Amino acid sequence: MNCIFCSIAQKKSPTEIIYEDDQMIAFRDINPKAPVHILIIPKEHIASLNDLNESNSSLLGKLILQAKNLARQQGIAKSGYKLIFNCGKDAGQLVNHIHLHLLGGGPLGGII
Ligand code: 5GP
Ligand code: ZN
Repeated sequence: MNCIFCSIAQKKSPTEIIYEDDQMIAFRDINPKAPVHILIIPKEHIASLNDLNESNSSLLGKLILQAKNLARQQGIAKSGYKLIFNCGKDAGQLVNHIHLHLLGGGPLGGII
């Protein structure tokens, strides 16, 4: 399968890794939309939110908890941050491997 985020998770694409455990990996977005812009992804290939099921509930909780930990490590826990999953065309999902955006470090605009 030709998936850039699978390549990063499998260390086939050189990327500085901020956090890794057996289930997930975190790295900086190549085109940051905020001073801190980190992507947290499962190592397992899951294309989008639409492909999740009950068996993924623990993984999803861990992704969010790790985002919280990374926000603290990056010094943005108190100033604030957004966690975003884009799903599908209208949300602007470009990479079809589920990823949680952690955005912060300055005022964040957007529709929500
Ligand atoms: P989406 O729009 O799918 O929610 O977000 C995909 C994000 O992945 C974008 O913000 C984009 O800049 C980032 N991205 C795409 N390809 C790469 C890559 O090869 N390396 C890194 N670090 N980020 C990427
Ligand atoms: Zn993938």
